[in-house]
Amino acid sequence: MRAYNFNAGPAAIPLPVLEKAQKELVNFQNTGMSVMELSHRSKDYEEVHNRANSLLRELLGIPDTYEVLFLQGGASLQFTMIPMNFLPENKTAHYILSGAWSEKALKEAKLFGETRILASSKEENYTTIPSFSLEGVEEDGAYVHITSNNTIYGTQWNEYPTSPIPLIADMSSDILCKEIDVEKFSLIYAGAQKNLGPSGVTVVIVKKDFLETARTNVPTILSYATHSKNNSLFNTPPTFAIYMLSLVLEWVKEQGGVKSIQKLNEEKAGYIYSAIEESDGFYKGHATKGSRSLMNITFTLPNEELTKKFLQEAKDRNFIGLAGHRSVGGCRASAYNAVPKEACEALANFMKEFKNQHK
Ligand code: PMP
Repeated sequence: MRAYNFNAGPAAIPLPVLEKAQKELVNFQNTGMSVMELSHRSKDYEEVHNRANSLLRELLGIPDTYEVLFLQGGASLQFTMIPMNFLPENKTAHYILSGAWSEKALKEAKLFGETRILASSKEENYTTIPSFSLEGVEEDGAYVHITSNNTIYGTQWNEYPTSPIPLIADMSSDILCKEIDVEKFSLIYAGAQKNLGPSGVTVVIVKKDFLETARTNVPTILSYATHSKNNSLFNTPPTFAIYMLSLVLEWVKEQGGVKSIQKLNEEKAGYIYSAIEESDGFYKGHATKGSRSLMNITFTLPNEELTKKFLQEAKDRNFIGLAGHRSVGGCRASAYNAVPKEACEALANFMKEFKNQHK
């Protein structure tokens, strides 16, 4: 039996995708071998690679003025590659801190040059996306970095600013969850293991003219230009992860694309947020209403004992992955694209039942 998988990442993958991969596993399209065994220079693999690229372009409406890259090293390596490539000596990198992952991104940038914290909601325990102003950033700013969805705290940006300098976003935990205007960004990056497939591949969407401004004294493998010039085939890419990505993207398309997925995500998160709101304070949401995430729904129970009991009973009923991040505690339901509506509805019902028993 499949679990109700609310893991934060690696996370649920659509069942039809897993079944297709299973079916094709030992003999991929009559090649007599699995995708994992194909040469990354073969025509058969190249088709998979290019299909993943073109599907992502189609689903997110990525213009031709952008490159789509498939890299390794997770989103964490992007924390390093971004300042390495795009923070010159005479400029400052601006960071908006909305959670632990933004802090980690900033920490790496400090190794390469001047940084400034443009805004932070740390004082509010990251319950909200901070308010900020971009006035004056163009004076010495290399770029503005944001984290679109804060996986640990369960907050998400609703609207993106139009920035006078390049805007860079870590979209690891909400890419493809809703429609976005790619053209507001010079660079978007996302580890695949939440909404895009298995871990092992990191998607980077980067504006070509921004790419041209990159530093050149960067180690070859850490330079975006290297991967851009080689269609992400400079060295051996994570072929199986990219194949899985292509299947997930096909599935998103079959669901009606990002617009339909967004509607479904609103419904899914709605069930769980309603269970929180209608609990007379038994469950407390971590995020303030205006900053609530569609993907990671964070909440607490009245005390530690009830939290433990809740998690155990949830597990007994096949709800997996509901413990909050080790740094914040409480509970977190990650309702990524592949988590079915039925799972969210069932969780909301269980939450109501548990509250009625323990209120
Ligand atoms: N950014 C965000 C928003 C994340 O949620 C995560 C992982 N949970 C990371 C970055 C780090 O990703 P990776 O493990 O792929 O390096």
